[in-house]
Amino acid sequence: MGAQQAEQPAAGPEQQVRDGFEKLYGAAPEGVWAAPGRVNLIGEYTDFNEGFVMPLALPHTAVAAFSRRDDGVLRLHSADIEGPVVELHVDELAPLTNTSWAAYPAGVVWVLREAGHAVTGADIHLASTVPTGAGLSSSAALEVVTALALNDLFELGLTRPELARISQRAENDFVGVPCGIMDQTASACATEGHALHLDCRDLSIRQIPFDLPAQGLQLLVVDSRVKHALGDGAYAERREGCEEGARQLGVPFLRDLPYEDLDAALARLSDERVRRYVRHVVSDDHRVDEVIALLDAGDVRAIGPVLTAGHTSLRDDLRISCPELDLVVATANEAGALGARMTGGGFGGSAVVLVETADADTVTKAVEEAFAAAGYTAPRLFLAVPSEGARRVV
Ligand code: ADP
Ligand code: MG
Repeated sequence: MGAQQAEQPAAGPEQQVRDGFEKLYGAAPEGVWAAPGRVNLIGEYTDFNEGFVMPLALPHTAVAAFSRRDDGVLRLHSADIEGPVVELHVDELAPLTNTSWAAYPAGVVWVLREAGHAVTGADIHLASTVPTGAGLSSSAALEVVTALALNDLFELGLTRPELARISQRAENDFVGVPCGIMDQTASACATEGHALHLDCRDLSIRQIPFDLPAQGLQLLVVDSRVKHALGDGAYAERREGCEEGARQLGVPFLRDLPYEDLDAALARLSDERVRRYVRHVVSDDHRVDEVIALLDAGDVRAIGPVLTAGHTSLRDDLRISCPELDLVVATANEAGALGARMTGGGFGGSAVVLVETADADTVTKAVEEAFAAAGYTAPRLFLAVPSEGARRVV
């Protein structure tokens, strides 16, 4: 299956969600909101080093119909999950007690109420085209769509970055997943035709022009369909190694080490493992800067080699790639892609591939054939058109 066919269907998901809401709850919703998934273009394992990331919002969205309630009841339903309406009470929400999908939107209600906002209940019905388990942040889409809808309905007056922080807190404290701020910021703050430059130290953001269709380019997301078990412990180990590197170099965070000083700094490190991690983080922060300079100059094609250099660094220095992701990158580049890299936490998940639109089918076919020849599960491909962040749709 080609990436083009995997695009979101044109037939109004808003209307379907609206109709579904009415059927479930017996009245039309007050409104319908949408929030996208995201993919990270460049800047990996840089967030906890207080560095830079550069995600973009996908055309794939969570769409949710909402009405307010004033009796403390919270009713939730997903068109994508088998089962009846989940009914909770806002006074009884407690962190880490709900392990179902409903914890993501319920967690947002909990965070808002903890912060003193009078969210007095809601009826919610949603559906999402963000694929789960591909590292495209279907969870952030669910949180952000809830935060935006409640902000509008209860007139809370919160800013987009505040909604992102609330959504992150819901995932960290209520669901219990220790994610950073990137996913929710991308979903809440991205704009169409742009990538989002996020400074993970002061959380400042800048929209960077990245209008792929206008340039005759496509960014493919290739879901390798694998998730290697060593992921969790390896993340903590990389984190610890980066902190050790910063300590040995006498900087608060690796972000504070200028790229110009990298070689001298590496020479001062005795531990080969720490040296590799430092080299990855400092060079990936630099690659974010390089990509921004190229995109600001309108030279979109030139970011391809920077993406591929990022993959090499993740593979050889941070060592978080896997044979499937390496195969995507090597095959895509051999078949004419401009550049490619794994994206996300690693040990599986997805890769991004930048291609001329005219070459997209050839590259897609080459990757699919290479996977078949290697005996791997067929990959899933998506088109990552840089899209609008969260918004009200009805
Ligand atoms: P991802 O990388 O996609 O964010 P997560 O494990 O963080 O992966 O989040 C996936 C979870 O989010 C699912 O297991 C489910 O609980 C919830 N979720 C995502 N999309 C939906 C949906 N359409 N309906 C209900 N729950 C969803
Ligand atoms: Mg997630």
